[in-house]
Amino acid sequence: MVQRALENCFEEARLSLDGGTGGKVATYIPELAKGNPRHLGACIMTADGGRFTAGDWRQVFTMQSISKTITLILALRLAGEDAVFSRIGVEPTGDAFNSIVRLETKTHFPLNPMINAGAIAAAGLCIEYARVPWCAESAHADFLDLARVLCGNEGIGMDERVYLSEKSAGMRNRSMAYMMQGEGVIKCDAEVAVDLYFKMCSTLASAGDLAHYALVLALNGRCPATGVSLADDRALRIVKTLMVTCGMYDGSGEFAIKAGIPGKSGVGGGIIACAENNLGIATFGPALNPKGNSTGGLVIIERLSQSLGLHMFGGNVFYKRKAHT
Ligand code: GLU
Repeated sequence: MVQRALENCFEEARLSLDGGTGGKVATYIPELAKGNPRHLGACIMTADGGRFTAGDWRQVFTMQSISKTITLILALRLAGEDAVFSRIGVEPTGDAFNSIVRLETKTHFPLNPMINAGAIAAAGLCIEYARVPWCAESAHADFLDLARVLCGNEGIGMDERVYLSEKSAGMRNRSMAYMMQGEGVIKCDAEVAVDLYFKMCSTLASAGDLAHYALVLALNGRCPATGVSLADDRALRIVKTLMVTCGMYDGSGEFAIKAGIPGKSGVGGGIIACAENNLGIATFGPALNPKGNSTGGLVIIERLSQSLGLHMFGGNVFYKRKAHT
């Protein structure tokens, strides 16, 4: 039943891409401009051990903003909740993921950890509270270890070319890091914090890897295979809450209505989503809508939620309502 639902939703997404509503690959990071807008893949992993796949689910791509969820789990582990939320807020912005404006006009603190400013601040905290304090290499090693555990893949690593491309093009992120260093939100060197952030965003994974991670999120940290705890239960509940309110950029409200489950997207074309204690989904489709969310991925997850009845409030009652874009 799950495989049939996935295939139907996948087909619908494929048709919508063919129908010209496919969107565009991200170009502001030059390496991402080389992405193939025709790629489309999906993987679902269920709590009872099932795995259901479609299309390019084995294709690796950079996590981009999906990594922000892992950065937050690591920051909570290393620095603790009080330190993290004394520097980073938990409110949605309604602005684009890379917006700088609120740092100047609202508060000097980033409004949440799912936007670039918040993730750069979280990367700074990972360095400040690293097992080897102030050591960015130690923080990056712990990040990769955590990503490997959560994705159930020891082979997870970084795409060097995307990292260098982000580093050369990331002036806006660098500006935010310097502003936050000036205000004491980042206490290490801004350049070092933003460099770690670029590395985290350049982490490679497939939809198969990310479906495992999404299932671990659904299970509040339990390993689907062994039942062993892989990450702190409370940290994961915080992450999922922020995914609901801020995970899909300034399209989070619409996604919450249509899919009704926590989701996080990245401009590399990935989306993860999870249904509590039930299943994890990851999709890959580099063609993005104007808000930066994968168009194919959105169709797959929203339709799947409807056909499998995943909406957290049940019934997908608002599903047919036409939300403005
Ligand atoms: N590395 C990207 C950036 O900093 C991440 C953006 C995203 O996936 O939303 O712009």
